[in-house]
Amino acid sequence: MKFMRYFSNSYNRRSIVVGALFFSLLFNFQHASYAYTQREYKRFQHSIVDYRSRLNPRYEKVRRKRTKYIIVHTSELGLKMTLKVVSKGKRLRNGRRTPGGHANYVIARNGRTYRILDKKYEADHAGLSMWNGEKDISQISIGIELVGYHYTPITERQYRSVGMLIDILQRVYGLNDRAVLTHSQVAYGPPNRWFRKRQRGRKRCADNFIREKAGLGPTWQYDPDVRAGRLMADLQLSKIYYGRRKYYAKMDDANVITRTNTAWSIAGEDYDSQSTVYKFPGGHIYTGDQISERIGWDKIPAKTVVLLNQENSVALIKKDDPIKTISDKLTAWSFAGQSYNEKTTVYFLPSGRIKNGSMISDWDDLPAKTKLIIGYRGPYTVGKGRSAYQIAGFEYNDRKTIYYLPPSKLLAGDKINDFNGLPKGTLIFIPNTLYKKNKGLLAN
Ligand SMILES: [Zn+2]
Repeated sequence: MKFMRYFSNSYNRRSIVVGALFFSLLFNFQHASYAYTQREYKRFQHSIVDYRSRLNPRYEKVRRKRTKYIIVHTSELGLKMTLKVVSKGKRLRNGRRTPGGHANYVIARNGRTYRILDKKYEADHAGLSMWNGEKDISQISIGIELVGYHYTPITERQYRSVGMLIDILQRVYGLNDRAVLTHSQVAYGPPNRWFRKRQRGRKRCADNFIREKAGLGPTWQYDPDVRAGRLMADLQLSKIYYGRRKYYAKMDDANVITRTNTAWSIAGEDYDSQSTVYKFPGGHIYTGDQISERIGWDKIPAKTVVLLNQENSVALIKKDDPIKTISDKLTAWSFAGQSYNEKTTVYFLPSGRIKNGSMISDWDDLPAKTKLIIGYRGPYTVGKGRSAYQIAGFEYNDRKTIYYLPPSKLLAGDKINDFNGLPKGTLIFIPNTLYKKNKGLLAN
């Protein structure tokens, strides 16, 4: 993963001290601005959606004996799938299903907060985990899922909600800011091809959580289990959490393979899972379980895009169709990545509305069955004296030239038989690449 440097290397010691002082003042000031009024806390508490009735009845509720930590996760899914998985359960690698109860709270990207399981009960959220010598952190912590991926920014509204929720929980259980940790901080895993011994880097989730934005003070200055020799450190995670300089994970391309951003640093324990998808720059697509035999872990080409939790949707990703369809599992981010809000990404909503990316507030706000095309110009309206050929040139009947036929049909150029019979109001979208090539031909 690439990191933004907070302080430059060349600063001398004194300027670092002065700078640190300045920043601590700044953060204290910001800290103060995150204290909300009683009314705001009340309003927030009343706004929490009660989702407890959707919990899988097979989940056995156990009262927590001690509450020492609050653990923040990113769900690595869109809202609908997140709610389903944490309430009803998920399929494990061995084919069995869990009985749900995987979080106490879920916070959607628009800030809406859901209560999945009463805070007094243990949620099954941290898995194999350890902190300060203590194992099985689920038994002694509350789990909060932020909807989104660890390689997409957490929204301001999520920070506001999670900040308030944490404040409330801290007051109830008497916890300080150091009691708030992310899942990637506390998870650990068995040895694997990268580590000889038990190691910290099993999970990446919430490594993009910026504590100050949730009104929290700094985390621990070191990883207690690494320091005590109980676990091997994970280089990326230590840099993010305990580095001498302050690093923030850089979001752009954080799920793209580079020399330093390996399959392991992106996917953690899911690197070789069947539900992890590797989109090679040449267009080939493999699942995690195919890499070692077909490619080899050290031979994944740079620029390969890695997508997590793509169980059952691999076929859809593989489909080399310029028209993509959003589902509960495949979000706008799964298809378009950071281009989701660019003008050249065009969305066709089930309601019939057409929006370009710049009109979208968040990639998780689009309903299932929304179709999208990525890297397009348009729309160009077919009309009197303006034929498809005049708009798209020789590529008018190409599979990459997209036609919108009112009221709601979306077709590729090679699927249209009668170009003279296009209905009134037909719109054409042409790929960016073609637009650049044919600039002279195209009239806006
Ligand atoms: Zn997690």
